[in-house]
Amino acid sequence: MQPSGEFDLIARHFRRPPRRAIVGIGDDCAVLQPSPGCRLAISTDMLVAGRHFFPDADPHWLGHKALAVNLSDLAACGARPLAFTLALALPQADDAWLAPFARGLFALADAHDCELIGGDTTRGPLNICITVMGEVPGPGQHGGALLRSGARPGDDLYVSGTLGDARLALDALQGRLSLPPEQLARARQRLDAPTPRVALGQALQGLASAAIDLSDGLLGDVQHLLDASGVGADVHADAALSLLAHGRQPGDAALPRPTLLACVLSGGDDYELAFTAPPSLRDAVQVAALRSATPVTRIGSIAARPGLQLLDAQGRVLTDRFPSFDHFA
Ligand code: ADP
Ligand code: MG
Repeated sequence: MQPSGEFDLIARHFRRPPRRAIVGIGDDCAVLQPSPGCRLAISTDMLVAGRHFFPDADPHWLGHKALAVNLSDLAACGARPLAFTLALALPQADDAWLAPFARGLFALADAHDCELIGGDTTRGPLNICITVMGEVPGPGQHGGALLRSGARPGDDLYVSGTLGDARLALDALQGRLSLPPEQLARARQRLDAPTPRVALGQALQGLASAAIDLSDGLLGDVQHLLDASGVGADVHADAALSLLAHGRQPGDAALPRPTLLACVLSGGDDYELAFTAPPSLRDAVQVAALRSATPVTRIGSIAARPGLQLLDAQGRVLTDRFPSFDHFA
């Protein structure tokens, strides 16, 4: 560990020449010029040691994940990433921790051309708070931003990618189920290094009627979208189960169906997108999925009556509960 103060630490690990920013790190404020005609989309997410990650988590992947969960919010809005700020509380100025953290953070930031423009650094229990800024084309009331509130009865309900691995990994790491090491490693990838669906979100602009990213669990997060839209939904349990990545490879451990359903329906931390679109746009949605190299699966439809109904293959309503993650529940 090199002896250093707060400002050396920032200079060594986080300060880079400004690119798009007019003023970047080093002044009291950063100054940004959004593209002409664009609206800003802004979101904040905080990761707390012991709450959102194990205190001994690999700093490289922690840097990745701290930004990924924020980019996922931009993805849900269909926004193009621009810039972010980083507020860090650190127990100590440990270069051996900060260097890989910054590498993981910047690797993902550079992949999305998203610039670090400022932040704050203090001593305290490890806590990482990022605010991300993106842009969506105007005009119109919200510009091109996808919102939670636009779902209409008759719309299809889709989910991107795969679900359940992050929860499977967490359950295995905390001893609630056992997975062979190679399968745990595969599932853990999703827990440690989520992929924000930024390209899909932008490709869905003008197609999706509503969207949300899945951080706390499919059913709970979709319920937020339904509440904001004032509608309900029918979700097909088997279609949802087809979202599981686990079980797709020969030799994957056979796990009980209730465990798999719980991973898919209430497991959090997957950072996929759930979105709705009218059936007339099915082909266009598939083109958007292809263009963004992100598979999407139709798992249900929007209903006028309130509430989310989970249906089995025979169309019977399942009454099991699949609660989402809630920090204060
Ligand atoms: P102020 O006292 O005005 O809040 P600071 O002295 O805390 O500013 O920070 C100095 C500069 O370093 C500012 O431009 C701030 O945005 C930047 N900065 C501080 N911490 C970080 C960080 N963790 N990552 C990136 N930039 C940072
Ligand atoms: Mg400060």
